Amino acid sequence: MTGGKATAGAVAMTARQTCTNCVMDTSDARIVFDERGVCDHCRRFYGSVQPAWRAKIANPTAFEPTLDKIRADGRGRDFDCLIGMSGGIDSSYLTYLAKDKLGLRPLVFHVDAGWNSQIAVNNIEKLVDGLGLDLFTEVIDWEEMKDLQLAFFRSGVPHIDTPQDHSFFATMYQYAQKHRVKYILTGANTSTECVRNPVDWMYYQSDSVQLLDIHRHFGTKPLRRFPLTSILWHKVYLRYLQGIQVVQPLDWGPYPKAEAMALLADKFGWQPYPQKHFESRFTRFYESYWLPKRFGYDVRRVQYSSLILTGQMTRDEALRRLVEPPWDEATIGQELEFVVSKLGISIADLDGFMHLPLKTYRDYRSQRWVYDVGATTMRLLGLDAAAKR
Ligand SMILES: [Zn+2]
Repeated sequence: MTGGKATAGAVAMTARQTCTNCVMDTSDARIVFDERGVCDHCRRFYGSVQPAWRAKIANPTAFEPTLDKIRADGRGRDFDCLIGMSGGIDSSYLTYLAKDKLGLRPLVFHVDAGWNSQIAVNNIEKLVDGLGLDLFTEVIDWEEMKDLQLAFFRSGVPHIDTPQDHSFFATMYQYAQKHRVKYILTGANTSTECVRNPVDWMYYQSDSVQLLDIHRHFGTKPLRRFPLTSILWHKVYLRYLQGIQVVQPLDWGPYPKAEAMALLADKFGWQPYPQKHFESRFTRFYESYWLPKRFGYDVRRVQYSSLILTGQMTRDEALRRLVEPPWDEATIGQELEFVVSKLGISIADLDGFMHLPLKTYRDYRSQRWVYDVGATTMRLLGLDAAAKR
């Protein structure tokens, strides 16, 4: 695994062009530079995402009617909204904000897909206890999760974190329906996520057609308990026939990441992670090692670019950090041992997956067209300028 073999990276290091404003580069094959060398992520941010975000922050009272509706919906009931908590900064801060600052009564749930880091478990406990909330934990059937994850490895695609993410989405919508909660609060935000992972890197995790097709080709046991959703069910049926709405409160005020982490650490003893999404040990392995090593996709470029655009990191600092390898040399050996033993495979098996021919979401069935129609419609209506591309 760590031998001198050439990495199957999708982009040769020498041919790279990096945006002159952020740190996205040609490892994103669809990136388009203008004559000043500024990329389309930056142009879209300045052109539509930033103005919409600024308008919200400048006029937070426009969020009040939504809050009133949420409170009204929960009258006479134990909770008025739903929050899925991973233990990461966004969902943790959101939970604090909702309960302590917005006076909401969230039903907090957590999906245990088998890969929680100890820090994540501690963070969730500390926050839920500190805020006096109840926590509902949904445990995903481990044998099915493992089978799906191995199927994704065998498929050769980049987006092998789909089984975890899909189970989080699906559980969230199923909870909303089951508990008749009309408002789902998510930690999605412009401050730390205004540049999105390109679809080629991380295809839509909620696409059940793709998930089931990959499982049909490479799975070994039926999925009986694994929670499934589909874009038409949650974006159309639940949204328009059941009136279940997703709300993003973090965009209605300033959300500087470093300050949010310091506040949670101070108030609740919350512990930071070395990198976004590292609350899951699988995601840590996947984002810091698998994606950059096998495909040349380094998600730090996306995360740092978001922070550069929102004034929380300088481009020089980002470039300096990107010189370091995306994984931690000192611990990667143990990390790989942990991943293979948990999945019941060997290091040689993992090495075999690493060197499979590179595939994309296009090699399997998908509902890409539905996502495209949805994204175009949202953009035209001015509802979501930050859709993936
Ligand atoms: Zn850029």
